[in-house]
This record gives sequence, C-alpha cells and structure tokens, in this order.
Amino acid sequence: MSNGHSATAPSVPPGASVAIIGGGITGLCAAWQLRRQGVPVTVYEAADRTGGVIRSLRQGPYLAEYGPNTLLETSQRIKGLIEDLGLASRRNYSDPAAKARYVVRYGKPIDLPSGPLSFALTKLFTWPAKIRLFGEPFQPRGQGPDESVASFVTRRLGPEFLNYAVDPMVNGVYAGDPSRLSIRHAFPKIHVLEAQHGSLVKGTFMSARARRKKGEIPKTSAPKVSFDHGLQVLPDALAQQLGESVELNSRVTALAAQPDGHWQVTVAKNGRETTRRHRFVLYTSPAYHIRNLRIQAPQAVDLSPLGEIYYPPVASVVLAFRQADIPHPIDGFGMLVPKLENFKILGSVFNSALFPGRAPAGEVLLTTYLGGAKNPSLAGESEDRLVEHTCQDLRTILGLRGKPTFRHLSIYPKAIPQYEVGYQRFKDLMDQAEQAMPGFYLAGHFRHGISLSDSIHAGLDTGLRLAQAWKTGTP
Ligand SMILES: Cc1cc2nc3c(=O)[nH]c(=O)nc-3n(C[C@H](O)[C@H](O)[C@H](O)COP(=O)(O)OP(=O)(O)OC[C@H]3O[C@@H](n4cnc5c(N)ncnc54)[C@H](O)[C@@H]3O)c2cc1C
Repeated sequence: MSNGHSATAPSVPPGASVAIIGGGITGLCAAWQLRRQGVPVTVYEAADRTGGVIRSLRQGPYLAEYGPNTLLETSQRIKGLIEDLGLASRRNYSDPAAKARYVVRYGKPIDLPSGPLSFALTKLFTWPAKIRLFGEPFQPRGQGPDESVASFVTRRLGPEFLNYAVDPMVNGVYAGDPSRLSIRHAFPKIHVLEAQHGSLVKGTFMSARARRKKGEIPKTSAPKVSFDHGLQVLPDALAQQLGESVELNSRVTALAAQPDGHWQVTVAKNGRETTRRHRFVLYTSPAYHIRNLRIQAPQAVDLSPLGEIYYPPVASVVLAFRQADIPHPIDGFGMLVPKLENFKILGSVFNSALFPGRAPAGEVLLTTYLGGAKNPSLAGESEDRLVEHTCQDLRTILGLRGKPTFRHLSIYPKAIPQYEVGYQRFKDLMDQAEQAMPGFYLAGHFRHGISLSDSIHAGLDTGLRLAQAWKTGTP
C-alpha cells in the first residue's frame, strides 16, 4: 500500500490520515495544503492521471488545451502557490497587447468597451440602451430569495445589456443560460452589490476599495496565466510534490463511518476492492459521481439529489489556421457570441494571441466552444460536423478563408455545473451532510465557484479547515 503516511509523518498512528476523493485541481490543492501543515494525506484518483478536466496536448509546434485555457491569478495565494511550486519561470502571463474582448453584433466582432469614452462610442449598444444605464442606481432592489440572471439584468440594466453583454459573458464562463442561472449563486459578487449598496454602479465603486484592502483582484482585471506546456503543468507539479500520496486508477466506491470516529474507505483498483482507514474524508469529484458512492453512517444524509445538478455537454474545438487566411488580426483574449446572433458557436479563445508557443509562426490557434445549456444537443454531433460548424461561423464572423492546419477536439458530456435558480437546496444539503457526518467534507466546483481560481481557493481553504480539525481532533 503506497499511501505515503509513514514517509511523511512516522509518528502518526495508522489510519489517522485524510482521504481525498479526486485528483483534480481542488483535491490536489487540498492535499498540498494538508502536507504543508504536516497532515498525512492520500489522494484517490479514479483515472490514470491527475488534473481532472485540466489537460494539455503538445503536438509538434501546436499546444492545445482539452478543457480550461486560462487561470486567473485573482489573489496573492494563487501567485504564491505557483511560486512555491517552483513554476514562476514556467508561468506565461497573457500578452498585455491581447486585451481586446470581442462580442459579436450585426454578425461581426465588436471590441467590448473598457472605459467611459469607448462605451459612449461603441456600436455594441444602441443609444437608448446606453442612456438606460444611467437609470441603474435608481432601480428598486429585487424581491424574493432568488432570481434568474436574465431577470436581474433586465430589471437593473435593460434587455439590450442582457443580450449583448451578459448573455455572451455567461457563454464564456458557464456555457450557460441566463434565464436558468441564479444571480445569487452564479454571480454572488454582483448579487451582493445590489443587496448591500442598492446599485451595481455604486456597489462596484465601494467594493473596489474593500477588495484592495483585502488584496483581492477582481476576475475582470486579474492577470491571465498559463504555462510553457499548458495548464497541465500546475496539477503535474502538485502531483509530483505529493509523490506516493497520490494513488491513480483508484476509484472510491464506499465510505463507512466507524464507531471510533474514523472512516472506512473502499477503493476499487485494478478490478479489486480494498478498504482503508482514514480519520477524515474530503470529496472533491464532480457532484454527479456522488450517487455512485455508498455512504454508511449513523446519521447518513442522502446525497443523491446532488446528481440533479445540471452539467450541460460542451465541445471544445481547437483549430489552427494560417493567419493569412483570416483578415481579422486575432489580437485579443477572444470573442463571445450572443444567442440573438444565431450562430452555432458560443465563442472562441484566441490562444496564440494570449500565450507564446501555441502555434508556429504565421499561424493562429483558436479554441471554440459549442453546446452548453442553450444548445446541448450540438455537443453530441460528430467531430467532423463540429469542425464544419466552427469553420462556417468563423467564415461569417472573422472572414476565414482557408482550412485548419491543425485540429484537436474534446467533448465533455458533463462539463460545468450550472448554479441555477434554487441552487440553495444543494448548498443546504452539503452543509447538512457535513454536520450530520462528522469527518466528511465536500469541496469543489459544485460548491465554491466554477473557475480554476475558485477551485484552487476551495482546495487550499478546505485543506486548512481539515488541518485544524486534524490537529484538534474535532471534525
Ligand atoms: C471545457 C471546460 C473549460 C473550462 N475553462 C475554464 C477556464 O478557461 N478557466 C477557468 O478558470 N475555469 C475553466 N473551467 C472550469 C475549471 O476547469 C474547473 O472548475 C476545475 O478544473 C474543476 O476542478 P475539480 O478538481 O473541482 O474537478 P475535476 O477537474 O472534475 O476533478 C475531479 C476528479 O475526480 C476524479 N473522480 C471522480 N470520481 C471519483 C471517485 N469515485 N474516486 C476517485 N476519483 C474520482 C475524476 O477522475 C477527476 O480527476 C472549464 C471547465 C471545462 C469543463
């Protein structure tokens, strides 16, 4: 059994360690934090590799991401993690020149305004929509415990702002549908602006000061990061430091609370089930997998409703083209496509404009997403059809003429959890489970926010909580 306990903390009695289910970025960060606090830990990962949805592919001069493309360095903690892992010299900050974010309107990409003057001049919004924004501070607060993103934005900012700012932004973050997502859960910081300040404009100003004090960086201005060999460098470095504490091809199938307060963890590996003893268990795998986990405890909470959290399918289509075949300069972060524009693609990230080494000289590399909550069946089409749809839309929007010089597709049948209206019931269930089953914890993209930076913070914070519990012996 290679669980690393004896190597890291010889004085710890057998079984007094923490089990982490899932070796994605959340589980790895939690394990890393525990290690730093001197707590023995074992990460059980069902797949034959760590990183979860983070995966990079180097093929000759091309570098493609399967899942996430950029990590937002939203705090000193993330910066510090990268540096503590010895990755500072391998980190790529996005090219400062690649600032533009395009939103498609009238079938063409329009640079999203970044200040008052560009806002006044932009063709992205009509004059009535711009004038409507001045009335935002005078709109009444919302009633009721929960509201959809679409209803919130229409109420405060008007329908055009929903259609040409928020709907495309929701594509880029959630591959989601603003009429289903909850403002309170999907965009808690925006929800709080209204709740605390009665206005988004006033609240943005006030909260910027508070954030500066706390050393937080808003996602909109946080530096965008990748690495010389793609994002996978980060989980690889974490896994390397954790060494034998990570067990691959190890699917956790059952948990049973023991009378002495420990947990018996059943692990399926190479067709065989074995049991291990741990003091604490942290679940970090996707919410829909928890249905398959048998949990026995005196006050066991039925967690199967977490399987109802909607994860729509998403296809990620990475294509390279000769720059000469695209009249558009491909010079920004990327472009987002509002639903009203009637294209198939949700948007594209301009990877080669952001980071070096993504495509050979004279070529550009783009990652385009299709499917999501608004058009889920599209993600199920054949790879050739997905490439056709992508090229067709890029022809109309960017003026593409040639054929791809490189392609790489990945399909996620269940991609990103949607924090829909009513999500509080899932959060309550998670709180209830932790209270009723001492020593059992839940963390990850279904609870603490869906971005990589959220997952890193969730892992580090939950690791600290667990270390505290481990040291005091109180779950
Ligand atoms: C297509 C796509 C694009 C994205 N783009 C971005 C982006 O550009 N920027 C950004 O910030 N975020 C992005 N995200 C979101 C971000 O990547 C994820 O939220 C984050 O990586 C989730 O990490 P995790 O560790 O919580 O979960 P996961 O990565 O899902 O890891 C969970 C792990 O648990 C394992 N597992 C499952 N069941 C078991 C079991 N029973 N026993 C043991 N192991 C188990 C799985 O094999 C997996 O390795 C994107 C997500 C997707 C899908």
